[in-house]
Amino acid sequence: MADRVYLDWNATAPLRPQAREAMVAAFAEVGNPSSVHAEGRAARRLIDDARRRVAALVGAQPGDVVFSSGGTEANALALAPGTRADGPRVLLVSAIEHPSVLAGGRFKPDAIIAIPVGADGRADLDALVRQLAALMREGRGRALVSLMQANNETGVVQPIVEAAAIVHQAGGLLHVDAVQAAGKIPCDIKALGADLLTLSAHKIGGPKGVGALVRRADTAMPDPLIKGGGQERGARAGTENVAGIAGFGAAAAAAGHDLDAEHRRLAALRDRLEAGLKAAVAGTMVFGAGAERLPNTTLFAVAGGKAETAVIGLDLDGFAVSSGAACSSGKVAASHVLAAMGVPPALARGAVRVSLGYATQEADIDRFLSAWIRLAQSLLKERPGIAA
Ligand code: PLP
Repeated sequence: MADRVYLDWNATAPLRPQAREAMVAAFAEVGNPSSVHAEGRAARRLIDDARRRVAALVGAQPGDVVFSSGGTEANALALAPGTRADGPRVLLVSAIEHPSVLAGGRFKPDAIIAIPVGADGRADLDALVRQLAALMREGRGRALVSLMQANNETGVVQPIVEAAAIVHQAGGLLHVDAVQAAGKIPCDIKALGADLLTLSAHKIGGPKGVGALVRRADTAMPDPLIKGGGQERGARAGTENVAGIAGFGAAAAAAGHDLDAEHRRLAALRDRLEAGLKAAVAGTMVFGAGAERLPNTTLFAVAGGKAETAVIGLDLDGFAVSSGAACSSGKVAASHVLAAMGVPPALARGAVRVSLGYATQEADIDRFLSAWIRLAQSLLKERPGIAA
């Protein structure tokens, strides 16, 4: 894959060298971490180290981290109606959540309520206040609210601290899907005011297929989704993915290092990209540009453009980008995120996401911009309406 430029970091980040090393070392351990002998204890130590490093990334205690098979499973574990009388009865989710949250976990469809977002891509907190008040009036019981810290398609950062105050004031619980935010912006569970928080290793340069649900010290872990052995203090049964977890720990340590400097570096690259895109094609629209965004994400469209055509053309030219969320690629469906923001379907169909990461350099942006100009010019020749 020499000479290719990878600009799809929100879909997945390339494995960090530190994570690879930790995984290779972990593969040499033969023990089951639940075994009491030396081999088992050595494997257990790898998990304990990783647990400390993942906890440190989000300002939690190691004992409050439950490893899972990824962000999807952690979200599914988090979204559980309470079994005790004071447990959550209703789930509120913003309309732009990842499909693994929109699916609602173990809540029945009639107990799930969507919170709208504004045109800027931020959850509508007035609507949240109104919904929580209505639920209280109707005596429908405690609410669990699930909001992402940053959106995977637009990169728009959500007003989590304000939402947490609103949710707690109404006696509810807040789950934050921090899969896209962790390692890109500060993500401290206490500072955010989250009760539960989801992480995924592969978005921060760890391996695919590993994630975690983290709780704030005084929050009860939801009932296990996977029952069996007593692993993860009974919160998630099954022999742990030792190498994957070790890779997650190493990636968490690396991602948390120099967050501010990396934020500035990526934001400068992103700004260079967006200035170039706008200069290349008149009328280029960058979604969510009016709100605070992750430093690495640009979702843009040109009126009349088709995302699939652009993504395929760029791929043939050596560039990996995405038409919206990776999970929905393959289906030609308009983005639910852009629909929720009120973007007209014709414009949304042209949305291309470029996302950057630790290995992205200025030369990659400049090469991408040249390729984009070439592509836009050839499409313009075919369909003069495109540049509107
Ligand atoms: N939440 C968000 C915001 C995501 O972007 C993703 C992955 O695309 C997930 C959850 C799911 O994580 P995983 O791929 O580890 O299942």
